Order: sequence, then C-alpha cells, then structure tokens
Amino acid sequence: MQNWIEEYPLLQDLIKMEEILWINPDYDAKNDKSTLTNHDILKANQRLQRFAPYIETVFPETASSKGIIESPLVEINKMKESLEQNYHLNIPGTLLLKCDHALPISGSIKARGGIYEVLKHAEELALNHGLLKTTDSYIKFASSEFRQFFSSYKIAVGSTGNLGLSIGIMSAQLGFQVTVHMSLDAKQWKKELLRSKGVHVIEYPSDYSKAVEEGRKQAEADPTCYFIDDENSQDLFLGYAVIASRLKKQLQNLNIPVDKEHPLFIYLPCGVGGGPGGITFGLKKEFGEHVHCFFAEPTHSPCFLIGQMTGLQDKVSVFDFGLDNRTDADGLAVGRPSRFVGKTIGHMLSGCYTVQDQKLYTLLRELADQENIFLEPSALAGFLGPIQLILQSEGKKFLVNQHLHKNMEKATHIVWATGGSMVPNHVMEEYYRRGASNHVMSNDSISNRN
Ligand SMILES: *Cc1c(COP(=O)(O)O)cnc(C)c1O
Repeated sequence: MQNWIEEYPLLQDLIKMEEILWINPDYDAKNDKSTLTNHDILKANQRLQRFAPYIETVFPETASSKGIIESPLVEINKMKESLEQNYHLNIPGTLLLKCDHALPISGSIKARGGIYEVLKHAEELALNHGLLKTTDSYIKFASSEFRQFFSSYKIAVGSTGNLGLSIGIMSAQLGFQVTVHMSLDAKQWKKELLRSKGVHVIEYPSDYSKAVEEGRKQAEADPTCYFIDDENSQDLFLGYAVIASRLKKQLQNLNIPVDKEHPLFIYLPCGVGGGPGGITFGLKKEFGEHVHCFFAEPTHSPCFLIGQMTGLQDKVSVFDFGLDNRTDADGLAVGRPSRFVGKTIGHMLSGCYTVQDQKLYTLLRELADQENIFLEPSALAGFLGPIQLILQSEGKKFLVNQHLHKNMEKATHIVWATGGSMVPNHVMEEYYRRGASNHVMSNDSISNRN
C-alpha cells in the first residue's frame, strides 16, 4: 500500500473517502485504439430504427418520438444560480441537464444499452430461425407467434437494479423467460416491479460483482439462456453510444455550437463503466477534442477511477484499498470496473471525481426545489463536476493545460441525470427528507421554497 501511495499520492485522500478529482494523464483525444467504429454505432442506430414501430406499439408512451427511446436536454438556470450561491462560485457558460431519468420504459440510462441488447438478441434469434427479414415490419415482434417463439428462450443479467429493470421489462414484453440476479444494493421497489411483470428475481447478500458472476455461471450451464454481461458487453456499449448523433441534433436545436471556442463538458455518473463509457465513446466520435468527459463515483465505490489511475483496470477492486463499496447510490455501487470499457475509452476520458452520499441527497433536494425535477441519488453525482473543475487546483490546471480557460464563458456543461422517474413517491419523499439534514445548503433550499 505504501508503494501505491508513493506512486499515486491522490490515493491517500481516496482511502480516507474524501472527495477527489483525478485528471487523466494519459488523455489523448486523437488516438483511438478501439476496434469499434462509427459504422458499428450507425448499425446500432439503424437497428433501433427498425424496432421503432414495434416499441411504439407495445410502449405507447414512446408515441411522441415514434418509438425512439430518447430524453430531453434542458437548460437549468435556477439550479445553476443556486449552486453558484451555495458554493460561492461562478459556473461560466451554460448548464444543461440530460434527462435520462425521464427515458421511457424503464426511467434510467439503462433504457439505452439494456433495451438495445435485448432487441438485438431477439432480432438475431428471429433471423436465424427464418421468422424475419430485416425489411419486414418489426410490429411482428408483438404477435403471439413471436411471443410464443421467444418463450422457449431465456435471458439473464446481473444488476444493482436499473439494468435488471430495463432488461427485465423489455425481455418480458418480448415473451422471454427472464432472470435478474440482484446485488444487495438493489432497492426493494425495483425487485417488486420486476416480479409484478413475471420476471424471476434472485437476490444475493453480496455485491454487484458476485451477482454478475453467479448469473454468468448459471447461464453458461443452459444453452437456451443468453447472458447479458454488463462487465464485457460490446452491445450494451454500442446501445449507449447511439446518443452521440442525437445529442448533436439536440444541441443544434438549442443553437449551441460545439467547437474550439465553445467547449462541451459532460459529467457522467459511473458504476461498472458501460453507460458512461459508451456515451463517451460516441461523443468522442462526434465531437472529437471539443468534448471533455468526466466520470463521477461515490467516495465508497470509486472503482473506475482506481482502475484508470493505476492502469490495472479490473485487476484491482475498491476492497483492495480498504473501501467497502457501500453507498446509497445503488446504480453506482460497483467495486470492480469493466476491463473492456477501461481499455476502450481510457485515453478518451478527461478525468474522474468522487462524491459523498450526503451530497447526493442535498443536490437531490436542491434540484427538486429549484427545477421541480426529481432524481434518484446516483443520478445527482454529475452535478459536482463543474464545481470540482472550478474549485480544485487540479481542475484549474486542467483548464489551462487544455487551453480551455479563455473560452469558459462560451462553454456548455451537461450534467447527465441517469435515473429516477420510476421511483415510487414514498421512496422519493424519504430521499427528499434526507437532503435536508445537517448541511449548509439545506437552509438555502428551504428558504427558496417559501
Ligand atoms: C447503471 C447506472 C449508472 C452507471 O452506469 P454503468 O454502466 O454501471 O457505469 C449511472 N446511474 C444510474 C442511475 C445507473 O443505474
């Protein structure tokens, strides 16, 4: 441990569970070593287009977007002012929220990758059994014939909650037999919702890595079972990456340019890395060196940060550093990162930072008070990004080194809200209450409401 700390002094604060900002020394915007390409993202996009008429049919809440699962991008000026007051700083540029908490069907960022991989698997099965041509209308997937066909196949996944929710809902809708292996972090309401849809939920008294491992093992023993592997899946990754061209259009619609003078900053809550990694990958393909992506993790579970900083990826876990991986941010409660994601986007990432759980609640309450937007705790982690960049000396240094400091007034910051619209009211009320306890910002929030 002493050697580790000598080599990476930031570990000292990380071990003490203090909030830290790590700037990636290996950042290299122009060097893409990945075997995945723009063409792969395009194919994923086209697949989702083929399925759109089906999605619109079985999930009528997607009618307004014609079966495309997408979320709004909105300006949050009141929250920006509130943050500036509470942290005594100026956030230069525009602050936007990417509202993935409002994604239809499963209410979290997992409605991107998770649903995409289930659809891809279903398409492959149907094509291989001569039930489908890619030129057919995919409304076929809603037929009893197709549901009957899929009922002899199984899908399994390991999850802290939201991935299980997305995969469970989509797989059950198609007619698959689906099993979700849930870690101890998973919230009760997520398990109950899945069971109400006929999903088989298995609970483990251990963390995410164990739930995934068990799921993988059980699936391997059954040739009719397809395991969705959150730690290694390229399909999940590509499902997330599809956002890039759509975000470009959303920014254009808001008349927001992204170029050398108008840098774009993205703050993404991170668990195993697939969601934020896929999005970073897509955005780097779309915006190149003009987009700067930061991952946010709980102080108890900074697995991606550790994997990147040490370069050891999944060979180290937070437990090796005396951390416990216990956090209320269930979507981020992962102790060991994805090696595939770390290797694929390691050099595209600008940095990582950590957030204390209590701050997630405080931000939750503040966002609710200011913008009437309600998120789950994990989904608030992005908000500390612009603050850390401005306050921490490492952040200031980064802005100067990347020649960004002169253009910050023209910058756009996108905080990625990754989940929350399906949280039951009584659970959300409890979250909101916890946002008020013993924190300087809570007084301000309350007085603002009066
Ligand atoms: C899963 C999840 C994330 C992070 O995604 P990973 O692919 O695990 O890194 C962030 N926020 C929420 C709410 C999530 O459910």
